[in-house]
Amino acid sequence: MCGIVGIVDSGDVSFPLYYALYALQHRGQESAGIATYDGQTLYKYKSQGLVADVFDKEILCGLKGGAGIGHVRYPTTGEKIPENIQPFTFTFRGRKVAVAHNGNLVNIVNLREEYEKRGQIFCTTTDTEVIGNIIADEYRVSLNVVEAVGMCMRRLQGSYSVVMMLDDEVWAFRDPLGIRPLCIGRTECGYMVASESVAIDALGGSFIRDVRPGELVCLKGNGIESHQIAEASHRAHCIFEYVYFARPDSVIDGRLVYDVRRNIGHSLCEEAPVEADLVSPVPDSGMAHAAGYAEESGIRYREALIKNRYMGRTFIMPTQEAREAAVRMKLNPVRGHLKDRSLILIDDSIVRGTTSRRLVNIVRDAGAREVHMRIGSPAIKAPCYLGVDMPTRGELIASDLDNGEVCSSIGATSLHHISIGALIRAIGIPKEDLCTGCLTGEYPLAIGSERCCPREVTCVAKHYQAGLESFSGE
Ligand code: 5GP
Ligand code: MG
Repeated sequence: MCGIVGIVDSGDVSFPLYYALYALQHRGQESAGIATYDGQTLYKYKSQGLVADVFDKEILCGLKGGAGIGHVRYPTTGEKIPENIQPFTFTFRGRKVAVAHNGNLVNIVNLREEYEKRGQIFCTTTDTEVIGNIIADEYRVSLNVVEAVGMCMRRLQGSYSVVMMLDDEVWAFRDPLGIRPLCIGRTECGYMVASESVAIDALGGSFIRDVRPGELVCLKGNGIESHQIAEASHRAHCIFEYVYFARPDSVIDGRLVYDVRRNIGHSLCEEAPVEADLVSPVPDSGMAHAAGYAEESGIRYREALIKNRYMGRTFIMPTQEAREAAVRMKLNPVRGHLKDRSLILIDDSIVRGTTSRRLVNIVRDAGAREVHMRIGSPAIKAPCYLGVDMPTRGELIASDLDNGEVCSSIGATSLHHISIGALIRAIGIPKEDLCTGCLTGEYPLAIGSERCCPREVTCVAKHYQAGLESFSGE
């Protein structure tokens, strides 16, 4: 998972990029970077850490120019080494290029091998560098960006929302299945693309629309060009964006994430009602789900756990050890709300089970009599290969335990996960247009020996001019 942004504006874009990345911080806390271009020079700054720790005023003032892209990283592929921090930048045929990517390519090993056999040298272990190289290689042949991206999209398999700065133009494209989000906005004096609409809100901009799956857009000073490069028979939007990943105030592919989560809460109550004294969220990820449950059940909503919002970077590091320490430090029970009470505790998901087990312990220690866990996603049974950090079946508690076994393992009084059908209704997007790989083990494209129900993708690159539309003056 990662967050990406690209902006073209009449003034310098470094501060707007910074604010946008700040709004996308939840999508990646490991590192952050910005690249800009001022008509002559490519400027870049990237480092490990949170956006606010990586940049200061002096650094931002040094990132000059009216075009730029930015990235926050949560590593799924590639090691945690400084070279892997995005955007990835290079010069090609006199053009200054920067690329940033959210997603995960499933054919990356083959692609890298193919290019290495041709003598290509790679400086990082990220998918992003491979994407940059394929585009450069194709551009060398055609000298046409649209054609080069079109050829590149034919080669990439997996999830990818990409922003690319090419001198003073910002290009952005989204995989034909629309697995990861990407949207377009208008700022006071320019245009932007970002992983989520909250980044547009952060700049006081207005949301225009989502980038369509398979679409390539180019932001220019005076408008946006659109090229439909590929079309798929069905989409495969990631359900986990709605359940957990995106911010609740984002609108993704036409759905307000907060409302999806509230709907999930309603369904959880319909599917597994229980008598209890209070409904409580696991903050912050279960809050909207719990609000929905409380609304539907009429049981009062009361926070039983309070989150420490000032946790440093150390506790957000994506390792198992740090994760365990994080749960201990992050949440404190409100004993006065819990003593001798029965509690419905709502979280968005159980992945490894570590969080739920500890939380049940914490609220029981604080005096809770019963702890009924209600979970906003169905049991996660299979890995995600498309960008969410759910690596192997062995690490997923529900991959070989049934509901009763998971309930005992985490020590809850009762446990219910929302059904797949109810989750799909809560999202409001047809089942065929969603990726539910982590729930069903059936993926929207071929991945190794996993089961798949592939979407048919047609490349329409040859006809891209027909899809040209300008937003200038809209
Ligand atoms: P568990 O402890 O069961 O592995 O994780 C479940 C908790 O982690 C839930 O509270 C959920 O909000 C959160 N979570 C789910 N997916 C991710 C992820 O990809 N990264 C991080 N940092 N947290 C996650
Ligand atoms: Mg959580």
